[in-house]
Amino acid sequence: MFPWRVRPSTVAKAYHANAGPALTSDVLKQLINCVKNRLAKPASAMLVGARLDAPAHGENGSMKVMKRTIGHSVQSISPGLWRVCINFPASTNCWLWQEPDGLTLIDAAHSWDAGTILDTINMIDLPLKRIAITHAHPDHAGGAAELARRTGATVYAHQCETRFLTGDASIADMPGSRESRYLHRIARKTGLLDPPQIADVQSVSDGDLVGSLKVLHTPGHTPGSISLWSESDQSMFIGDNASTRFGILLLNFSWFTLDSERLEASLDRYSEVKARTLLAGHGPAYHSRDAVADLQSLGIRVLSRLPRIQPRPQ
Ligand SMILES: [Zn+2]
Ligand SMILES: [Zn+2]
Repeated sequence: MFPWRVRPSTVAKAYHANAGPALTSDVLKQLINCVKNRLAKPASAMLVGARLDAPAHGENGSMKVMKRTIGHSVQSISPGLWRVCINFPASTNCWLWQEPDGLTLIDAAHSWDAGTILDTINMIDLPLKRIAITHAHPDHAGGAAELARRTGATVYAHQCETRFLTGDASIADMPGSRESRYLHRIARKTGLLDPPQIADVQSVSDGDLVGSLKVLHTPGHTPGSISLWSESDQSMFIGDNASTRFGILLLNFSWFTLDSERLEASLDRYSEVKARTLLAGHGPAYHSRDAVADLQSLGIRVLSRLPRIQPRPQ
């Protein structure tokens, strides 16, 4: 059986099976095995510098590729910051951030990526203490349930987002623009929209700390989207408020963003931080002398031209 022959309904069943306490579904096992057989074998031959004792950084603390497979790569961005990039389907990032007591994971990719993230944590050889979810989309929160269960890490998300993570509401019912609601209606039918249920989620709000990272409530992409700011490192994790490709910043398509007007206000809000590095949910790290100004001028160019669609009231 090959992945492309799996019917959507079968994928959905496999996906939801992963929400349980154990991987009991034969469908899921088959799915994982066929992906492993197709991808992991050639990938292992492409392993680059993946020794367990690989130094964390380049000579000047610069970015270093620690591991690269067809399916994912692990990069050391700076001392105490690692990027796990899941290549398929959309270069989804998880970030590992070192604190004195262990690691904070920022976003957890899809449910089927939990093992990859856990392998990376084991390679870094520090305990996982916290999982911060920038927003509840399944490509950012999917692996959190499994990772929290296996490591005992606490999961944090904005209070507007927790009900989607604990299974009390569906992302398909989020308020938002007409295009995004239409997309959500289609996505609901595939059964892949909501991430596996997380047993316990700690709610955070604007100004709270997750480890040393300060929470900024920056809604727009979703109502409870957060950014996490490190003043000491002048770095900010921005979730899906923007993405990067080939060294440039991009705003995500309006049909993935629920409310472009609120996103524009959130980009304005970034003025209060002096970030030199933006760490987005998709694409490489973006470095610039004034990364926030770059993002804001992009926002003015793109968002102000979008037609204003009244979001559905919450
Ligand atoms: Zn995303
Ligand atoms: Zn998203």
